Amino acid sequence: AQERYASIRDKSATTVDGITINLTMNAGLMADLPSLENSGADGVGLFRTELQFLVRNKMPKRSELSALYARVMDAAQGKRVVFRTLDIGSDKVLPYMTPQDEPNPAMGWRAIRVGLDKPGVMRMQLQALLRGANGRPLTVMFPFVAQHDEYRAAVAEMEKAKEREAVLGHPLPETIELGAMLETPSLGFAPQTFFEDVGFLSIGGNDLKQFFFAADRENERVRKRYDTLNISFLSFLEGIVNRCHSTKTPLSFCGEDAGRPIEALCLAAMGLRSLSMRPASIGPVKSLLRRTNLSEVRAVIVQARERGDQSVRPAVMEYLRTQS
Ligand code: PEP
Ligand code: MG
Repeated sequence: AQERYASIRDKSATTVDGITINLTMNAGLMADLPSLENSGADGVGLFRTELQFLVRNKMPKRSELSALYARVMDAAQGKRVVFRTLDIGSDKVLPYMTPQDEPNPAMGWRAIRVGLDKPGVMRMQLQALLRGANGRPLTVMFPFVAQHDEYRAAVAEMEKAKEREAVLGHPLPETIELGAMLETPSLGFAPQTFFEDVGFLSIGGNDLKQFFFAADRENERVRKRYDTLNISFLSFLEGIVNRCHSTKTPLSFCGEDAGRPIEALCLAAMGLRSLSMRPASIGPVKSLLRRTNLSEVRAVIVQARERGDQSVRPAVMEYLRTQS
């Protein structure tokens, strides 16, 4: 399928009205890395580090992790890689961790909550990231941040990790960018000071949508009931875009919807300028963006909202039919 899009692989995702969307890929395993070259991705917008922990039967050592992160950065050849710290919890249990018995694991003790309450593993991981960078620029993002103090505490952990590395005589990255995933509605309503403080934000649409509609992402029956192109959800996303715009906070979107062409188009129409997706989606998404006038799509969405359409999908599909 990627061959079909080979002719646009090295072209930018620029719409008919001249808006360029940054398309990056999601990854997590070493096997994903050749796709960085083949797909034409602008970088890795989400590197799910927990996959490396899940494929092992014992806790990886810091030296193994730093070697691995170094290889990822080598493969990226200077393109930006956004490393997300461990997103594990009682649904993604590591074989070598004590399972927690929680009634709602997706809303339970997971991700940054574990990282901050039991910081040993996060500290080891942050040090491995710093060491793997070996002086190169490093980008790290913290998953499932629901309020400002969690982000502050995570940043403080990074500061401590840097001090430890410096004491040990290891070179620190030339630049360190830190950010948070926006996966809970609460963060979309955080005070202005949070948006000013955070280095960048990436919307985790899979989790954000599940908590926005209170519909389990693992449960087909309820998940399919709510369209990502539901106007309530798009309006919420637009609000986040506007807030980030006013504080000049870089924003991207890295849920599965970013890789669905119609959804990607609507996200871009709501003002998102950076989308991260599975590598095979880059061609189809880029192809549609390059054929479309984004301000016209936006006008279609605004009209649908004014009419009170529940989802903008029918109107956008109809518009695209008239264009082809
Ligand atoms: C998300 O929630 O959208 C996301 C990208 O993270 P994950 O799918 O790994 O939870
Ligand atoms: Mg998530």
